[in-house]
Amino acid sequence: MSNKIFVIAEHLNGQVEDITYEMIGKAKEIGGEVITVLLGSGAQNLAADFGSDKVLYVDDAQLANFNPEAYCKTIVQLCHAHAPNIVLVGNTSQGMDIAAGVSVACDMPLVAYASDVTADTITSQLYGGKMSVSSHVADGRFIAAILAGAFDTEAGKGSGASIETADAPDLTGLKIQFKQLVAPEGGDVDITTQDVLVSVGRGIQNEDNLEIVQALADKLGGALSSSRPIVDSKWLPKTRQVGKSGLKVKPKVYIAVGISGAPEHIEGMKDAECIIAINTDPNAPIFDYAHYGVTEDLFDVVPALTDKL
Ligand SMILES: Cc1cc2nc3c(=O)[nH]c(=O)nc-3n(C[C@H](O)[C@H](O)[C@H](O)COP(=O)(O)OP(=O)(O)OC[C@H]3O[C@@H](n4cnc5c(N)ncnc54)[C@H](O)[C@@H]3O)c2cc1C
Repeated sequence: MSNKIFVIAEHLNGQVEDITYEMIGKAKEIGGEVITVLLGSGAQNLAADFGSDKVLYVDDAQLANFNPEAYCKTIVQLCHAHAPNIVLVGNTSQGMDIAAGVSVACDMPLVAYASDVTADTITSQLYGGKMSVSSHVADGRFIAAILAGAFDTEAGKGSGASIETADAPDLTGLKIQFKQLVAPEGGDVDITTQDVLVSVGRGIQNEDNLEIVQALADKLGGALSSSRPIVDSKWLPKTRQVGKSGLKVKPKVYIAVGISGAPEHIEGMKDAECIIAINTDPNAPIFDYAHYGVTEDLFDVVPALTDKL
């Protein structure tokens, strides 16, 4: 059997997504020939800092924007031509759009929600990280969908990967056509790039009380984020929501104020470097993830902390 690992590169608006580098770094650790598959149009320059052994680049106008059907067809053709034993895709909306199709067409089992991978075993995090499942693939031939934030991005960066171009398959008459990229409205803080986040949950009780957590965030030079009920109540915009149906964040410090720590919330913030929880309930699940915790009333702790700072 060949000892090749395909990493399916993800990019949007001319930017390579971090998950690509995370997967390249992991693939190098597994061992074998690491080949990054880059699909696009006029996008070869995106491969400049791929730390893989090789880049397989396919250029076609139909690949200029992400199109699951075009991507799937192209990756299947490359898999048939190069016979990788492992294919790594992001457990992202792009990755999950193509992974199942490639799995069926190439007869390779697909394991999703992967937080770790070796040559024959995939560890998946289910229920927002509450359950960890090991899948052993005896012949070491599989597709793994990797959770964003699971691995180091720097480990996947480098230079000097040889670039091999390959032809696209016939991409005429696709049933799926790219129409338009609808980007989220700008103008708000990008909580995914903040070093410090003060995140507020239902424990805050009402919209007016948000000012005490905003004051703490300001004092720390950070930004205010929240759990979903705060956004559902329209007290903060959707751009501030952390979690499964919000944004995944990885700040240096994450202060969870009046947040219980539901799996859907944890999924979005568990990779923060330092998690501090303020919650009156000592049994709140957030304390299973917090590095530091305070089991006191947030209306006492938050203003006192702001004053102290
Ligand atoms: C498909 C799906 C997707 C979802 N996506 C998301 C998501 O992206 N993000 C998200 O956050 N949720 C998401 N949820 C909702 C999630 O399941 C929880 O309902 C939500 O995270 C709970 O928010 P919370 O912790 O603010 O509220 P609660 O669970 O009500 O917790 C409030 C906490 O505040 C504490 N508290 C109360 N008063 C005080 C006080 N005075 N001082 C200190 N502590 C106090 C309480 O002890 C409690 O632990 C999703 C759910 C589903 C089904």
